[in-house]
Amino acid sequence: MQTYINEATSGKRISAKGYAVANKNAKFKPFSFTRHPLGEKDILIEMLFAGICHSDIHQAKSEWADGIYPMVPGHEIAGRVIAVGKNVKKFKVGDYAGVGCMVNSCGACEACKQSKEQFCSKVVFTYNCIDGFHNEEPTYGGYSDNLVVSEDFAITVPKNAPLDKVAPLLCAGITTYSPLKFSKVKSGSRVGVAGFGGLGVMAVKYALKMGAELSVFARNKKKEQDALRLGVKALYTTDKLIEVKERFDLIISTIPTAYEPMDYVRLLDFGGELCIVGLPPTSVMPSLSLSSLVFSAHRKVYGSIIGGIKETQEMLDFSLKHGIYPETEIITAAQIDEAYENLTSGRAKFRYVIDTKKSVF
Ligand SMILES: [Zn+2]
Ligand SMILES: [Zn+2]
Repeated sequence: MQTYINEATSGKRISAKGYAVANKNAKFKPFSFTRHPLGEKDILIEMLFAGICHSDIHQAKSEWADGIYPMVPGHEIAGRVIAVGKNVKKFKVGDYAGVGCMVNSCGACEACKQSKEQFCSKVVFTYNCIDGFHNEEPTYGGYSDNLVVSEDFAITVPKNAPLDKVAPLLCAGITTYSPLKFSKVKSGSRVGVAGFGGLGVMAVKYALKMGAELSVFARNKKKEQDALRLGVKALYTTDKLIEVKERFDLIISTIPTAYEPMDYVRLLDFGGELCIVGLPPTSVMPSLSLSSLVFSAHRKVYGSIIGGIKETQEMLDFSLKHGIYPETEIITAAQIDEAYENLTSGRAKFRYVIDTKKSVF
């Protein structure tokens, strides 16, 4: 780390090591690269934990669009600040920081002014993105040993926080917290969560804490006991949606595979909302029937992607206050391919988190 600190403080490009794929069919291999020099408002983070998100797999395998290779995925990042630029206000060396899906945006547009940076047309994603603020170079994510980021895009993490569990909150947490807030979920709201994987579990935990009544839609009954233990009223299997009598104010779909969105729209009360946060691969992407929608009694469908920086900090503070965390399984970087296989086949039980200090890059 001392080399990185020296490079950062002398204004040089900062060396980094990570795990990358060379193309959409490749396995992960160690990869050396450099990051842009430490700017006045930037912090250098020593990576401690990096979560593996299902969207890492979609991007590494070019399932949404052609990826930028070599690709170092990872946008669920928790680490320790080891150098700060001269105008950094929020962090000092030794503090803990988290980084999610974004590392920069224009700061001046309407979206940025409202701290909805995820909707800025110049937003820079943490990896697999061209950084318009740094010579159009590609960004590299958290499967690595350090990260340089503007302090405006780093989340304050208290020292006593469980960092391995904080990392996944930066994507899985905010992705589910944000629509619950947008749809004004409160005590007594009737909320359904479709898809009971990593995202679904987080949606359930937040909505319950906000006072909502919860039901879950899952492929089978395997996780029924887990759901009931959390406080969910009912788990419905997706093959019998037609028999569901309950009506909902909000259903959040985290489903990452093919399905029929109108099956869920029909379960909403008049004026209820279906929020889509799961994004299946392009080859099996569901579509909406406009004729069904026109006859759907003012029921609404909207999409949501992560959340702004201000809301991400709010989500983290809420999670820490109420002890809302994902279940995690800690691995090393050498096990990424295996983790991807388990996630793809549905064998993974928990969120995989890479212990980057224990990994050999
Ligand atoms: Zn993610
Ligand atoms: Zn902007």
